[in-house]
Amino acid sequence: MQEILQKIEQLQRAAESSIQSAIDEKMTEQVRIDFLGKNSPLTELLKTVGKLPPSERPVIGDAVNKAKDYIQLLMFKKKADIDAKTMGDRMARDRLDVTLPGRGQQLGSLHPITQVRDRIEALFSSIGFDVSEGFEIEDEWHNFEALNIPAHHPARNEQDTFYLENGKLLRTHTSPVQIRYMLEHQPPMRMIAPGRVYRRDFDATHTPMFHQTEGLVIDRQVNFGHLKQMISQFLRRFFEKNDLQVRFRASYFPFTEPSAEADMQCVLCDGKGCSVCGNGWLEILGCGMVHPDVLAAGGIDSNEFTGYAFGFGMDRLAMLYFGIPDLRLVFENDIRFLRQF
Ligand SMILES: [Zn+2]
Repeated sequence: MQEILQKIEQLQRAAESSIQSAIDEKMTEQVRIDFLGKNSPLTELLKTVGKLPPSERPVIGDAVNKAKDYIQLLMFKKKADIDAKTMGDRMARDRLDVTLPGRGQQLGSLHPITQVRDRIEALFSSIGFDVSEGFEIEDEWHNFEALNIPAHHPARNEQDTFYLENGKLLRTHTSPVQIRYMLEHQPPMRMIAPGRVYRRDFDATHTPMFHQTEGLVIDRQVNFGHLKQMISQFLRRFFEKNDLQVRFRASYFPFTEPSAEADMQCVLCDGKGCSVCGNGWLEILGCGMVHPDVLAAGGIDSNEFTGYAFGFGMDRLAMLYFGIPDLRLVFENDIRFLRQF
């Protein structure tokens, strides 16, 4: 019996030193198989306990179980050590340097033209104007004839038009929306039509695609005074200057009679004169009383109704509002430029 007890003690010490030298999970698992597994000497010993004399059975059985418990405990501690070390290694490897500067978040923003368009729509909507978009691909009738610009008319050469293969064209102004709106609605009516227009033109102050807003008001007894008041108030609200000076000069457009161009006091120099305005005034808008022929094309009786119309470039308004020096910057989509708005 003494011999068996010694053997148990030997096995226990062997297990102890194996556990001590284990450095990872794999090695500890091997120790478990070697000393506690189904074919380990201790397990084998336990199977032979039944063949021992009855008086020795509890002693040996007890000794084997105690040895197994002891080895199990050592392994448990070892495993905890290895886990802690693995965690420590991982934390050292994945260490966060909280002193590094942050990468930051970049916020997107609306394009300056979109911001100006939203602003124009909000201002006119607040006084009851409808917003109508029309079509960028138009036919000659809506883009020219209905607006009192017949085939022989010089304005038709001035506006270098992009024609499509099917005889249609890219609208050269937002004015055809007036015609479409008149044909679809009954007066009284107030609408604006902001959108893209196209002309074959490209230099520092012209791009083949640019943005206009058209305005149309038709009602009984609408007169030029109403037009002047509307334009002046719009520009004052848009530029947030209650004392902004606006003046009207007689002009000519085929679709209005009489026609005028509106100038406003330069918002960059307050009318003192600068490199943008020269003499303190900026040409900003074309307008006039809707020509009776245009009303007729829109199906409106000019004996009963009168109206005024106006049109202006949104790109120019955006340049003045944001102080952008070159129109081309607006269309290049350089993120360094756009980020400033
Ligand atoms: Zn100026």
